[in-house]
Amino acid sequence: MPLFSLEGRVALVTGASGGLGRHFCRVLHEAGAAVALGARRPEAVAADAAALGDRAMPVALDVTDTASVAAAFGAVEARFGTVDLLVNNAGIAATRPFLEHTEEEWDRVLDVDLRGAFLVGQAAAKRMVAAGKPGAIVNIASILGGRVIPGVAGYSAAKAGLVHLTRQMAVELARHRIRVNALAPGYVATEINRDFFASEAGQAVVKRIPQRRLGMVDDLTGPLLLLASDAGAHMTGSVVTVDGGHSVNSL
Ligand code: NAD
Repeated sequence: MPLFSLEGRVALVTGASGGLGRHFCRVLHEAGAAVALGARRPEAVAADAAALGDRAMPVALDVTDTASVAAAFGAVEARFGTVDLLVNNAGIAATRPFLEHTEEEWDRVLDVDLRGAFLVGQAAAKRMVAAGKPGAIVNIASILGGRVIPGVAGYSAAKAGLVHLTRQMAVELARHRIRVNALAPGYVATEINRDFFASEAGQAVVKRIPQRRLGMVDDLTGPLLLLASDAGAHMTGSVVTVDGGHSVNSL
């Protein structure tokens, strides 16, 4: 649909080798964007990029390393032009009760999920401003950025920080015609959590979701395209929750 078209856009997705990142790359590409698949080890996404074809490239990108971030933007710009669509998707979690959460885990999670999103988001915005190009940034947050469950102190703090960083960026970048929004998924079925959700504890979690099912990656397709394309032209600073009603259920 033309309203959701990304024809002529240049997208960069961080953490492109992961469950959601791979899907986001395919969606953006299908909507017409040239897509750079950012991964710490570009060989991990080389086959995906090749399968997408001409309008796709793998790019080495560690979101915690400023030199790597600068090099990645340089490489994408040389091939496709200025990135005008960033999906800040790279993220890690540490699951441990608060009293046992280590400083090292805290630093690692905050480094990737919050500082990384800041570094990549700022680099993207600086280049859009320098090129005089409007653009969109989509930060992949989580419903744990608004509500908490036990055992994810660093992760939920980082995602809450990312939600607020989204608002901060939206306010400051609007004058440059850069929109910044967050997508906050609930639990999405991926390879990584399959065993947990097959377990009794996992099934108990599913029962708390009003729609009685986990999210599928396809559930994020429309919301991502809305935030990325001109269909969402007047949306900035928004947090779009996609969770089957999980986060509003107080039962
Ligand atoms: P995943 O572990 O499959 O993917 C995460 C990706 O981030 C991986 O490709 C990993 O290599 C990459 N990454 C980690 N550290 C990095 C670094 N320093 N630099 C660059 N890349 C790095 O997880 P996922 O489920 O695909 O999650 C993607 C995003 O969605 C994350 O931000 C996560 O917090 C968020 N999220 C996921 C769910 C879910 O249920 N899967 C729910 C809510 C939010």
